[in-house]
Amino acid sequence: MANKDYYEILGVSRDASDQEIKKAFRKLAREYHPDVNASDKRAEEKFKEINESYEVLSDPEKRRQYDMFGHARPGAGGFGGFGDFGGFGNAGSPFEDLFGMFFGDWGGGARRSAAERGSDLSLELSLSFEEAVFGAKKEVEIARMSTCSECGGSGAEPGTKPERCPECDGSGQVRTAHQTILGSFVRMSTCPRCHGTGQVISDSCTACRGQGRRPVSERVVVEVPAGVADGVQLKLVGKGESGLRGGPTGDLYVILRVIPHRIFERRGNDLHCRFPITFPQATLGAYVQVPTLEGFIELSIPATTQTGTIFKVKDQGVPYLYGARRGDLLVEVVIETPKKLTERQKELLRELGAEFGEPTTTPEEAKQGKKKKKGLFERIMGD
Ligand SMILES: [Zn+2]
Ligand SMILES: [Zn+2]
Repeated sequence: MANKDYYEILGVSRDASDQEIKKAFRKLAREYHPDVNASDKRAEEKFKEINESYEVLSDPEKRRQYDMFGHARPGAGGFGGFGDFGGFGNAGSPFEDLFGMFFGDWGGGARRSAAERGSDLSLELSLSFEEAVFGAKKEVEIARMSTCSECGGSGAEPGTKPERCPECDGSGQVRTAHQTILGSFVRMSTCPRCHGTGQVISDSCTACRGQGRRPVSERVVVEVPAGVADGVQLKLVGKGESGLRGGPTGDLYVILRVIPHRIFERRGNDLHCRFPITFPQATLGAYVQVPTLEGFIELSIPATTQTGTIFKVKDQGVPYLYGARRGDLLVEVVIETPKKLTERQKELLRELGAEFGEPTTTPEEAKQGKKKKKGLFERIMGD
């Protein structure tokens, strides 16, 4: 087949449009389909040729290369790649797309391997704020289906073996006549007796009742990397459920939930906190101890700092996931009004107020009839 012309095989001209190629392919594929021409070797060969031709000519890039170089495409060993019939079942081949349309589930279960991948599992894992920032090793308990250790997953009682299915003679598929608008076809479908495995078990494994898997409870260590955020999903490959009949194991997805912190709020990789300072500290400046996730750090508040000013403490934030750098700590200072004052403190503040020329008469004092002093505003505006 290697040297036959793809255009000739499909019976189209070299300048045929994509539509013409598709139409020609459909017509020929229907005609030479192996289920229609059961046990006709020539039809099977022809069908392979048709499919290979379409595979190349329906792909603009492959067609361009074929037009330029013919079958001797440089450096790639030709356009083959189907090898034998098994290749047709590959998901996404034009063959499957097309025949899925005509034959319903043809491309589906009938030729699928009996091995089945185990299910993925997922769970939520709660982390403290610090664990999310610095990383943690957490142990979780999962309930999963695991390959039966007694029968090694075969489902047959130890000492016995699964036998060839008499219904399908071990092929896993049975032929059934099928009526469609295009006429009568013989369709391959999964054997109902062995469910496509080609084997039946007469003596079921007692440990797993012939299932090949058993539910187990297992402890799994989850390595949480430093710098994860709420909602991040970790994938633990191969920690899901065991596959069926030798199929691969599924994966475990761990969705992280981070408990909010009492003081710190995360803003990307920066941490933010509000830090109260007094009016004298803000006015005269001060050294204060501000909290970090790892302890305390000294921060210099310059004189005449306004409330709401944000000070940046470098590298005291959240580490970048899988990186060496860290974000910053953003300290927003808030000037706090004292809630309780001693008589002495009140006196000093009144004095200060007077020095500023501001009225400091309290509502209580006003009620008691004490003379109200004029404030700066009133003095400017006059009476
Ligand atoms: Zn078993
Ligand atoms: Zn069977």
